[in-house]
Order: sequence, then C-alpha cells, then structure tokens
Amino acid sequence: MPTPSTPPTPHVPDFIRDDLGKLGLDLTDEVLAAIARYLGQLLEANQRVNLTAIKDPDTAWRRLILDSLTLLGGLETLEAGASVIDVGTGGGLPGMPLAIARPDLSFTLLDATGKKVAFLNSCVQELGLTNVTAVQARAETLGHEPDHRHRYDLATVRAVGKIAEIAEYCLPLVKEGGRMLAMKGQAAEAELADAGDALSVLGAGDIAVIDAYPDGFDSELVIISIIKEHPTPKAYPREPGTPRKTPL
Ligand code: SAM
Repeated sequence: MPTPSTPPTPHVPDFIRDDLGKLGLDLTDEVLAAIARYLGQLLEANQRVNLTAIKDPDTAWRRLILDSLTLLGGLETLEAGASVIDVGTGGGLPGMPLAIARPDLSFTLLDATGKKVAFLNSCVQELGLTNVTAVQARAETLGHEPDHRHRYDLATVRAVGKIAEIAEYCLPLVKEGGRMLAMKGQAAEAELADAGDALSVLGAGDIAVIDAYPDGFDSELVIISIIKEHPTPKAYPREPGTPRKTPL
C-alpha cells in the first residue's frame, strides 16, 4: 500500500501517447513517467489544498497536462539555460509539465498563494527537479525587483485573468526580444480587441493568436503569443490589485 506521502502514480493513458504523436511531440517514457508522478501528487494534494477543479484523472491528463504541453512548440527556439517564468502557476500549470519536458531550461514558478508554493516545493523535492524554483510573490511586486524585471526569455500564463491584466503581470518580467505565451479560450480575439493599445504601452510588439491543437481535436484552446519589443515603462506593473481592478 502506498503511504500518504507517496501518492499512487497515474499510468500514462494510451490516448495521451496518441495525442502527443498527433501534436508532433516526442516525449520519452522517462519524461512521461515524471509527469505522471507530478499529476499524481497534484490530484492527491488537491484533496487538501484547492489546486484544480478537475478531479478525474483522464480529464486531468487532457485539460491540465496535454493543454500545457501544447506550449512546447513555443519553447523550441529557447536554447539551453534560457529562463521561463510561469505567472500565477497555481498547482504548477503549465510550468511543471513544461519544466519536466525541458530540463535544459530554468523555470521560475510564481504564485501569490503560500500553500500552492509549498505544494510546488514538495513536488520539486519529490521529483528531484533541479531546474525549477517556486516563488511566492505577487507579479506586481516581482515585476519591480531587479533580479526579475526584464530578466526572462519567456513568460507563460494560464487562467489568471484577461489579456490586459496578465500582460501587465508578464511583460515587465520579460527581456526585450523575449515573449509571453498566454493559454486562452475562444474569447482571445475579443480580449485582445478590448485591450486596445494597452499591450504596446507595456512594450509589446508582434501579437499572434495560434490554435493550440490541429483539426480533429475537441478543444478551443488558443495560444496568444506576444513579443516583447520595447522595455516596459517604470510605472508598470501598477500597485498590487490595480491591474485586475482597473485593467489598462
Ligand atoms: N495557472 C494555474 C492553472 O492553470 O491551473 C492556476 C490558475 S488559478 C485560477 C490563478 C492563480 O493565479 C492562483 O493560484 C492565484 O494565486 C494566482 N495569481 C492571481 N493573481 C496573481 C498575481 N497578481 N501574482 C501572482 N499570482 C497570482
């Protein structure tokens, strides 16, 4: 019998291997086994700490793991040693599956909630991940710290807020020439229209909206890719709470 500290590892469902193949993602058995261990820990800890509304393992594989892994294409151009920050990572999504799949990159998983960061730290230890640091802070604060501002090659974000709000969290953290990748539903285009020139004020250049899945998948997930072209003005991010209350 497994002890409470070693939750059962969900097996990797065959449909996940098939879907990864259709997405052109070639993950080793070792990587998939580590992702399965992470998912086991997430679902187990979720009984005590609110990390995800999804409880069914197959749905979790699809909507948490596979959805996160669709960002891997956007990480392809990052060279070994490049830095990624996952903003509002919660239980580690999309950051943790990406970090397991790309051990050559350095990941910072950022969340404002201490219990979530404690969970992430326990995962990092259990899985022996050497490329992941979990940080408890608000993005509005971290975005002004010299060790983090304009430091990252890439910021990822899922389910944290509308585009103007999350751009104010992410873009100050990204280097010029870097990017942010936001996972979004079909409201992406409308949110971009609502954001008006907020994104260029924050330093954005080219923006692209990309379907995360090829035809044939039952998913409306899109990825908004925003290139950081100019430095973010010093005034941003604004005070904690302001980007959500009064989006640019
Ligand atoms: N990205 C994860 C996912 O997709 O499962 C978590 C999404 S959860 C709905 C939103 C997370 O963002 C919460 O864990 C919350 O603590 C965090 N968050 C919200 N605003 C934040 C901020 N300003 N700075 C840091 N974390 C924030």
